[in-house]
Amino acid sequence: MLKINSINFDNSDSIIFLGTSQTEELTDFNITKQQLTSPNRVFFDINNAVLTIPNSTYQLKNSKLSSVRIAQFSTNPNVVRVVINYNDTYDISKIKLNTINNNLFIKLDDTIPAQAYLTQVYRESKESPYDYNEKTSVVENVIAPVPKPQDEIFNQVRSAFNESQGTLVLPNIEQKQARLMSRYFINRFEVRQGNILINGIGVVNLEAPIILEEPRRIVFDIPNTIVAQELRNKEIKINEYESVKLGQFEPSKARLVISTNFPMKYKPIYSFDLQSILFANEDKIKGLIFADKNSQITYYKASQISDATKMINIMFSNPVVYSLKRYNNELELRFYNLENFNVISFNQQAIENQQEDISAVKVGQNEYVIKFKLSDNMKLDCYETLNATQIRLNITGSAKSVKPQKPKEESKIKIGLGKKDKDSSKIPSSVLKKTIILDAGHGGKDTGAIKSGINEKDITLEMILRLKDELEDRGFSRVYLTRDDDTYLTLAERVEFASEHGADAFVSIHLNSSVKPDVRGFETHYYTDEGYGMAKVIHSELSSQLVDYDRGLFKSKFYVINHTIAPSILLEVAFLSNDEERREIMTKEKQEQIIKAIADGLVRYLRASE
Ligand SMILES: [Zn+2]
Repeated sequence: MLKINSINFDNSDSIIFLGTSQTEELTDFNITKQQLTSPNRVFFDINNAVLTIPNSTYQLKNSKLSSVRIAQFSTNPNVVRVVINYNDTYDISKIKLNTINNNLFIKLDDTIPAQAYLTQVYRESKESPYDYNEKTSVVENVIAPVPKPQDEIFNQVRSAFNESQGTLVLPNIEQKQARLMSRYFINRFEVRQGNILINGIGVVNLEAPIILEEPRRIVFDIPNTIVAQELRNKEIKINEYESVKLGQFEPSKARLVISTNFPMKYKPIYSFDLQSILFANEDKIKGLIFADKNSQITYYKASQISDATKMINIMFSNPVVYSLKRYNNELELRFYNLENFNVISFNQQAIENQQEDISAVKVGQNEYVIKFKLSDNMKLDCYETLNATQIRLNITGSAKSVKPQKPKEESKIKIGLGKKDKDSSKIPSSVLKKTIILDAGHGGKDTGAIKSGINEKDITLEMILRLKDELEDRGFSRVYLTRDDDTYLTLAERVEFASEHGADAFVSIHLNSSVKPDVRGFETHYYTDEGYGMAKVIHSELSSQLVDYDRGLFKSKFYVINHTIAPSILLEVAFLSNDEERREIMTKEKQEQIIKAIADGLVRYLRASE
């Protein structure tokens, strides 16, 4: 009997992960798929399976699909059924079922996690795609919930979704409140050839490691993570002198502690599907091949996006395997499957661009290191896209003011993958009191542009909500939204809303559309002179922080920016009609990138206009 004990989603809700109890690779499991209409849905029956979490329904952010339900089938207790409800425009041939190791995953669109390149460094098995026969059935099956005994795993997975982030949907809760965010669920922890391997479901991320003395050990905290019960507090010997232990440190934080006399030798290497992490002993991985496919750098840009922040954007032809390590005054970004990287011209270019603090070196067959000079007080954020073809680093903090280090019992080394370290203290309180009106384009019956079932109105709302959060995180107290749900507003109502609130700034977000599918890029529009001042600053942030095509700054007579008294701009952040941009703009990473640039620009503008 196959036990299914977790369901998880990636950030863009394009993949459903089903964790199973199986320790061996799934080979002879039995699945049937059928399609039903009114409402449109597809279901998978997993035969000889039992669900150890409660029957549940999840709303998806992906606008082509409305919800996913997983339940023990009522009339046959040996069947677990997954039902996916989709909209008319969704192409169900995109649904693909795959296995990874001992888990199942259902792909809902073209987003390709990098599993195709998996090698046995991270997992034993390779991808084995299961396609199935298309069957259409008219049989209506009613799925009645079957209460299941609550066991440990139930509680673990249940608590993996908290109220605000992910939630089981109760009948009377409106859809918009049901936001899902993925968590990481660790279901394998072992020592392999002197290296520590963690496998899980979801996307792994790390906090800055800490080195502690007596006994000497290095601690890695893994946020947003649930450890399977049977792995908790399990101590494994690495060798005669070293051991490692994994625990559930806080309700949603896992902690890995390696007892070793040489803590700096251990470095975390991310698998490209971001579902595994290898804490590798440097000495043990020489010559190891981490990927069966090499990757090339296709785009590189290092830019100073503000006085204090430098951003590095790197794009790759194929998923990349990398590690990130911080030494005293140096950050090392190491790639394990690169080829044709011309370090000589890279270094020359860095010098020409007056970025002498960045240099690259080849250290092995396909191994390259890019080094960044750092000072102690610099902070680092690292982001990677789901398909592992883009890495972005934000390095914050000035190189000049080096803080004296306090002698402390614990010395901290920051690899610093902490995500939300905002310093609002630098923004004057008079600026933080400014009234900012955010306007999500379209809404309700006015969908805006539509492409492949994606509505402009949904994306603009999602982004506006993120922008509000971002500004409030930075300390702004008067941020108002013309709409915070899917309601219809006239343009005049939006303008009126702004003047009622005494706006100091008005920002409207839209998505562009073109009959030519390859047209892409972002645009900033203004109409008044006041609007121009703000547009210029925000546009320059977008231009320097995004890798997307900059279509320019335009004086345009759009109603909202023409009639609003406050400085007003309208942003067309991407083309919904362009396949790549559409796919990207639906990801959290991309949205956050744009939001950050807008927020930076807005702050800069408001400060300057004080
Ligand atoms: Zn629009």
